[in-house]
Amino acid sequence: MRRPVSDPVFAAEPEPPLRGCDHPGCAAGGEFRAPKSRLELDRYHWFCLEHVRAYNSAWNYYRGMSDAEIEAEIRHDTVWQRPSWKHNGRANGHGSEAAARAASACDQALAVFDIEPPFTVVRLKARYKVLVKEHHPDAHGGDKAAEERLKIINQAYATLKASYFS
Ligand SMILES: [Zn+2]
Repeated sequence: MRRPVSDPVFAAEPEPPLRGCDHPGCAAGGEFRAPKSRLELDRYHWFCLEHVRAYNSAWNYYRGMSDAEIEAEIRHDTVWQRPSWKHNGRANGHGSEAAARAASACDQALAVFDIEPPFTVVRLKARYKVLVKEHHPDAHGGDKAAEERLKIINQAYATLKASYFS
């Protein structure tokens, strides 16, 4: 039987991609989008799969930010995304930067003491005694490094006392 004329004999030409890959010299289609920058999250480059992967792995979210801005951003993430954190009123209600600074010192102090809130003043003191005993320069033959560690421990102790029990 004869094929009706209207039957397609050949497959249609594959449609050319709407966009080309933005990677210089790449002839592939730009099917995958990637934001142009942190400040232009709604504007995109268009890449092929290979180049969107390369772009994403090289993409620096912090590009174009000053060091101070980057630091603030990182602090904001590490400090405030810890849901178990409770600060007394002193750290709250201040400018966010001052609060972040206070919280950051607190964070470091907690790390030095290897202690997690909530804790009591008794527990804090007990932990302090253990650390002092462990790191006292006298126990290390007057070692300079031990002296430094003791200084850090004392600072951390003062920070934690001020943050939680004053
Ligand atoms: Zn490409």
